[in-house]
Amino acid sequence: MSETKTKLVEIKGAKTYFPIKKGVFRKTVGYVKAVDDITLDIYKGETLGLVGESGCGKTTLGKSILQLIRATDGVFNYNFDGEVKDLRELSRTELDEARQRIQIVFQDPHSSLNPSFTIFGSLEDPLKKFGVKTRAERREIIGNLLESVNMPKHYMDRYPHEFSGGQRQRIGIARALSVNPELIICDEPVSALDVSIQAQVLNLMMDLQKERGLTYVFITHDLSVVEYISDRIAVMYLGRIVELTDTEELFKNTLHPYTQALLSAIPVADLDHKKERIVLEGDVPSPVFPPPGCTFHPRCIHATEKCKTDAPKLINCGSDGMDHFVACHMVEEKFK
Ligand code: SF4
Repeated sequence: MSETKTKLVEIKGAKTYFPIKKGVFRKTVGYVKAVDDITLDIYKGETLGLVGESGCGKTTLGKSILQLIRATDGVFNYNFDGEVKDLRELSRTELDEARQRIQIVFQDPHSSLNPSFTIFGSLEDPLKKFGVKTRAERREIIGNLLESVNMPKHYMDRYPHEFSGGQRQRIGIARALSVNPELIICDEPVSALDVSIQAQVLNLMMDLQKERGLTYVFITHDLSVVEYISDRIAVMYLGRIVELTDTEELFKNTLHPYTQALLSAIPVADLDHKKERIVLEGDVPSPVFPPPGCTFHPRCIHATEKCKTDAPKLINCGSDGMDHFVACHMVEEKFK
């Protein structure tokens, strides 16, 4: 991560709710609270991991940053070379320009590659959109992009079905890089790949980050992957951040009971240092009717009466200048 921390994105009080409609008149009868009051900074040059079980809101938060999903409320300040603007307030033209700076890589690169187009056909679209006029220039740029993801230039004339999963993901990364972005939202980019290929793609992403000064938001349910690639990690549960700190600190000094349970489930090769697995009872509750108080309380072995009624705030429990944010009454008591 860069030495001087410059904020690239500042998210304040973000909420993304999806209405539930019922009946002939499609009346709104409730909301799925996918992202529920998140405040978070993303610094230039860092990799911020967003982790949590399926349905915790991490993908919705990523897409809300990119404005692919419009947030219901909150501020998404973006630092445009020193000029800070709320992404939610941008005009259509401004948003198009912003999307040149913010790109996304999906779990399934098929979603960004048209099966009936060659790789050149799929990758030239964003270049055309952002003003690269001649075909020769576009071929030159795409050739160089393929080389930067360790693929030969002539692969641009092949079709998506001719590639393996790992190769398609590298093409997905090349596509995201084609418009020279600053921030890439990586949504489970290696989850569908074999472990050996995962490592190749992760190493490639880390190399590209160094070369190009990229910032990543890395969304995954896989804590081993996020430990490998992230500078900081935000753990999400039912649309909220429950713990946020540096990667090393999170693994050494895990404070939130939910994070403790997630980390205890990571397989450990060293049998002498095997951790006792904390088994979480029950499923993640519905985000339509989140439990009152601490939303984790029905599954938490430390829950008290207070946890059932009062929602804990995300507060800094770090020491020695280390930021370590946790939302838990029990942890808060310890650090008072
Ligand atoms: Fe568990 Fe209470 Fe902490 Fe929630 S606030 S994680 S229920 S101890």
